[in-house]
Amino acid sequence: MTLPALPSPDPVASADALWRLLAEHQPAVAAALAVQLRQMPEDWPLRVLGVGRPDTALALPSPEHPLEIEPYDPDDWENCGACAGLDQPCRYHSGYIAGYEALNGPLTEAAKVDPTVTVATALKRLTEAEEAQESGQLAAAVEKLTGGDQA
Ligand SMILES: [Zn+2]
Repeated sequence: MTLPALPSPDPVASADALWRLLAEHQPAVAAALAVQLRQMPEDWPLRVLGVGRPDTALALPSPEHPLEIEPYDPDDWENCGACAGLDQPCRYHSGYIAGYEALNGPLTEAAKVDPTVTVATALKRLTEAEEAQESGQLAAAVEKLTGGDQA
């Protein structure tokens, strides 16, 4: 498998890479897009993007996370096409990593305090702690324990 050029901050290079990926992985969508582009009026930059000229449109801001066209593989992140195409985690795996990191820290801390704790118990305690924080019970308990010194 040869990888296409990565989407880059250069909108022309990024569009070229995206077009090749779209034609390879979603050819019907690529065809529909080509038909739509051919039907656009002369003043498309103003009508579609609100700017008067195509070169002004090329200077519009791009998304922080590059667009991904290759399908992601939820079962095998090491061979995920979307990750490989971007050379960074795709949106699916970025979310997976964020979820893992959000749980890994609290679960590791819970296991350090009580090595026999189960994941289910640790998650239940985390939920109870969050609920106590949201309801103000935690702040009230801290205030009671510290004699009201806490703000
Ligand atoms: Zn991925």
